[in-house]
Amino acid sequence: MAICPRCRQELVDNQVDEFSVAVCQPCHGVFVRHADLVSILDRSWRAIPAATAEKAEFVAPENWQHEPLLRCPKCVAPLEKYGYMGLAAIQIDRCDRCESVWLDAAELENMVVALARSNYRSEKSLRREWDASRDIASVGMVGMAPRSLREGQRNAFRSLIRLLE
Ligand SMILES: [Zn+2]
Ligand SMILES: [Zn+2]
Repeated sequence: MAICPRCRQELVDNQVDEFSVAVCQPCHGVFVRHADLVSILDRSWRAIPAATAEKAEFVAPENWQHEPLLRCPKCVAPLEKYGYMGLAAIQIDRCDRCESVWLDAAELENMVVALARSNYRSEKSLRREWDASRDIASVGMVGMAPRSLREGQRNAFRSLIRLLE
């Protein structure tokens, strides 16, 4: 049995895909294993359009530094606070002993949006690097490369294909 650290109600087990999460019905807080949360976030962030993620603003709740520590819904140890992706606006409460986190209402949603923004940004910069390297190639590197270099690239490509088979 797990108890909501805010309203002391009993949490109700719910399923998200194959993961079990405990939900507080009055306050919509969620208690979830850290590893499961990572998988859930990983599967969810693409549902947020890039433009929406980029526009999102995360506002830290007033006085968040002075909030009393919450206790773990399961083992009642004090929960440790940390800002998701370094964002003070998304305060996650973690129990190391239970390897679980407590998320207040809307925190899960904010995490998905924050992760989407960060992932879209790194995809964009990867694409820029990729385009830049193709530009160099089209400027004539392929044509000018000595035969031995081209041969080496072809061999590397072949062993890569073999690896992937
Ligand atoms: Zn609650
Ligand atoms: Zn605990």
